[in-house]
Amino acid sequence: MGLLEGKNALVFGLANDKSIAWGIIQAFLREGANVGISYAGEVMAKRVKPLAEKINCQWVEECDVSQDAQIESVAQKAAAHFGKVDILVHSIAFAGRDELSKPFAQTSREGFRTAMDISVYSFVALTNAFSSILNPGASVMCLTYGSGATKVAPHYNVMGVAKAALESSARYLAYDLGPQKIRVNAISAGPIRTLAAAGVGGFRDMYKHFADAAPLRENVTIEDVGNMAVFLGSDLSARVTGEVIYIDSGFNIMGVQIAGEQ
Ligand code: NAD
Repeated sequence: MGLLEGKNALVFGLANDKSIAWGIIQAFLREGANVGISYAGEVMAKRVKPLAEKINCQWVEECDVSQDAQIESVAQKAAAHFGKVDILVHSIAFAGRDELSKPFAQTSREGFRTAMDISVYSFVALTNAFSSILNPGASVMCLTYGSGATKVAPHYNVMGVAKAALESSARYLAYDLGPQKIRVNAISAGPIRTLAAAGVGGFRDMYKHFADAAPLRENVTIEDVGNMAVFLGSDLSARVTGEVIYIDSGFNIMGVQIAGEQ
């Protein structure tokens, strides 16, 4: 029997088969969850719908998380289809290209607002909208990049600031929802080649340096993240909440990084 047998899991943020969300969906299906998928809008539909068909997913809904009405509507649709939900995954982030290449000091007010709105506030709004249909014991999770949130990752800029706020939001939500026995955690993944990552200036170098400098000397895959999401979604992590859990081949423990050393 799978670790998620009988659980209803909703995953927000699928763009294509390179998405971290796709790794999570595959792992959830393997462990027996009943999975629903949400994606941003029409542009994404072309890629997402064939993927959803491939796995025979019965609940595939559009939701632009910058729109409160769409968040409300998707929560109602989930209630109608699933009744109750056990796992909610937020795998969403956005910042303009300029903000991820220029010096951080030149971040525009609008660029800062957009990054915080889509990458952080949406997590709070989604959690709140779904809170009434989350079962006791439910698990809510988001995706962060802790090395960019707690330290400086060149070019990550406003997204690092947004991830710091996202991690903090996970802790505040964990406190609020604790009495309902709902857990909220953040998964901090090492760099993975995805659509969102392609927008970060110098990502290719960061990706390569990571594999050279991390204790395990290898990059992280969407399958690795999927397995961590299974653990957080399952009853194995029943008393884990408010945490940022790193899955980064140990990169974050390093105080000094010497690339290429064997
Ligand atoms: P991705 O591009 O596949 O996923 C990002 C998703 O955000 C896309 O599906 C996109 O449609 C969605 N999105 C953007 N604006 C939206 C909106 N207004 N409404 C709804 N959805 C919207 O890239 P990914 O790397 O899989 O990113 C998923 C999460 O993982 C993000 O939070 C990202 O910051 C985080 N993360 C990524 C890495 C990495 O190296 N790829 C590392 C750590 C954390």
